[in-house]
Amino acid sequence: MKIAIDGPAGSGKSTIAKDIANRLGITYVDTGAMYRAITLKLLGKKESDFEKTLNNTKIEFIDEKIFLDGTDVSDKIRTNEISKNTSELSKNPLIRTHLVNLQKEIVKKESVVMEGRDIASVVIPDADYKFFLTATPEERARRRYLQFKEKNVDLTYEEVLKDLKVRDKNDMNREISPLTKSDDAILIDSTNLNYEQTISKILSYIR
Ligand code: C5P
Repeated sequence: MKIAIDGPAGSGKSTIAKDIANRLGITYVDTGAMYRAITLKLLGKKESDFEKTLNNTKIEFIDEKIFLDGTDVSDKIRTNEISKNTSELSKNPLIRTHLVNLQKEIVKKESVVMEGRDIASVVIPDADYKFFLTATPEERARRRYLQFKEKNVDLTYEEVLKDLKVRDKNDMNREISPLTKSDDAILIDSTNLNYEQTISKILSYIR
């Protein structure tokens, strides 16, 4: 089974996609983590070196952790700094082609819940189920702000909302594979739904 979940930053995609994959007993793939890991590797490098570097980079998921060239970078890729740089670098066609190819390879081999921005449109156009998960920017920023607060990250709600809007703009307006809801995807607006309600709604389509 192939399930695609796309949506903007802070829509809850990751937690929800992971939970659905666990409940269905299939593999969860966080493509955002792949873009983040590549960003970590390419930060500070010249664009003319990207291709060579990409071809010498190994990205693996092991027990829901992401490894870059054999090192667990799951925590390192979650900083606000990496978030901002990732949404800039993920406009680059070399990076996109490289990662989309890797993602397609994974999809060929196993049943997945794969989440990102272009999964329904580009990576798994023939997915069994396609969902577009969203919520208002204010609600998404509120949730992100609470997560940051729990981790003692010192950002105000206004700063979180501003960063999120910049990322939305980048992700929705880039030339290649911009974030959009594909026509055949089911829209799930979680602004007024809690976690369990959102999961139930998605599962009601799958079961
Ligand atoms: O999902 P997450 O917020 O971790 O993704 C980080 C960034 O990676 C996004 O802001 C987006 O720019 C990029 N991304 C992408 N295509 C995907 C997944 C993520 O361009 N399929």
